[in-house]
Amino acid sequence: MGAGLSTAAFREASKLLGVDALGWFSATGFPQYLAVLEERREYHRIEYRTLEQFRAAARMPDWVVTVLVLVRDYFVGNEYAAGEYKLSNYSRACWQTVGPVTNRMLQFLREKGVRAEQLNVPCRAAACRAGLGFIGRNGMFYAMDIGSYVGIAVIGVDVTIPEAGQGAERVLHPQCSTCGRCAEACPTGAIIQEGHGIYPLRCISFLNRHPDEPSCQMPADPAALCGWLHGCEVCQNVCPLNTVIVHRPTPVSTPELDLYGMRVPNQASVSRAEIECRMSRVTSPGFREYLARLLSTAVPRG
Ligand code: SF4
Ligand code: SF4
Repeated sequence: MGAGLSTAAFREASKLLGVDALGWFSATGFPQYLAVLEERREYHRIEYRTLEQFRAAARMPDWVVTVLVLVRDYFVGNEYAAGEYKLSNYSRACWQTVGPVTNRMLQFLREKGVRAEQLNVPCRAAACRAGLGFIGRNGMFYAMDIGSYVGIAVIGVDVTIPEAGQGAERVLHPQCSTCGRCAEACPTGAIIQEGHGIYPLRCISFLNRHPDEPSCQMPADPAALCGWLHGCEVCQNVCPLNTVIVHRPTPVSTPELDLYGMRVPNQASVSRAEIECRMSRVTSPGFREYLARLLSTAVPRG
């Protein structure tokens, strides 16, 4: 690369920084993914991030020559206690894990004299383009040999790096064509029957992570929330692409999570009593409503 570092040495250095998979591609000709967004009408209704913001995110700054994509496994476990309300691996560990790795990479590049900034471009499309993995039917990104419990960070740099990836922006996993287990298991029917992707406004992970979004489609039966306090990973937990993965243990870095003002222990599941004694602190009207529905029914077994 243009900083006195060979491509092999750069890869080796990235492992020491905590990156699990690294790829890159030329910054030209990237925003093909926007065509998909334009066709998906439900994305036009989401208010927390407007279509114009999605479009703006896909615009590459002029100075970026190469786009680096970092992948980091954040799986911390999914041993939920019977009858307790569940927290996803994403909620417990994603940004707490990929954030520090990204900062270390940015510092490393800048010390080499490279201009480097984190980009807000669509990260799953970038990861596919860099040749790092696939999109599953559930719309999740699956990193090769690591699975879908991964955080992705995208960094723009002002240098050319040899051996750039040449993947498409949307590479579908071949196994999905004969599987469909995620779509069968999804409690709210949020996975598109034909194709790869979800109806975001029906997805439990969207409902409890963007609870004040006006167009959310809450299921009529609260039992369909399946006891998810924050996030939802049903479609990933049932996926055969994930069951063969051996995760490197990720330590939990934050002992508590802040859910809209309510602090809960950072563990796979928390009890009704723990939620009830803390829920008065919740500041989000949408999440208060979500909690009321969630607690109105017992957590389904299994
Ligand atoms: S459960 Fe099956 S269809 Fe769904 S993402 Fe995994 S392999 Fe693809
Ligand atoms: S996260 Fe949950 S609700 Fe959303 S698509 Fe997957 S299984 Fe369905």
